[in-house]
Amino acid sequence: MAQELPKLPYPYDALEPHIDARTLEIHHSKHHAGYVTNLNKILDANPDLAAMDLKKLISHPEKAPEAVRPGVIFHGGGTWNHTLYWNSMSPDGGGEPSGPLATALDRDFGGFDEFRKAFAAKAAGQFGSGWGWLSADKKGKLIVTSTLNHEVPMTDGLEPILVVDVWEHAYYLKYQNLRPTYLESWWNLVDWKEVEKRFAAIAV
Ligand code: MN
Repeated sequence: MAQELPKLPYPYDALEPHIDARTLEIHHSKHHAGYVTNLNKILDANPDLAAMDLKKLISHPEKAPEAVRPGVIFHGGGTWNHTLYWNSMSPDGGGEPSGPLATALDRDFGGFDEFRKAFAAKAAGQFGSGWGWLSADKKGKLIVTSTLNHEVPMTDGLEPILVVDVWEHAYYLKYQNLRPTYLESWWNLVDWKEVEKRFAAIAV
């Protein structure tokens, strides 16, 4: 099945001042759209892959023929990751999580502030283009990782519940080279209610 560019769950200017409207518009309507278009070219030519659930496909890229595997990883991840990213943010975001997620962050990081430091350090430290992730491992332990380009934590057996895009296209117009400043401002957008739901859905 062909993939579609999802509509954003908020207007382009809704995340101001943390993410400016121009950045969000280009990011969604050009970058994300480009990954979807290029993924669909691969899926059109490979009906077996098109029949697969996208998350499953990028979790098991070895199922794709070698010739198209790099494209599946890059454009498939580019398609899926951005949708998770848009839905990890909200104009009403920020603050702190509560309930079982807050308890698990305390358990695995020693507190919310310690978690934020660890997550930001991973995301800021990713060389080149990539993503910062909060995921649960198979035992439900929360860990922070980063990935290169559009690679995903699922290939390492992790289930992501929060993601931040640290490609320059996500922040350059407003923050230029200051990725850590973008990340600091980004906490004001995190939709913890949504992240709590994802955590609840995978709790072991
Ligand atoms: Mn991006």
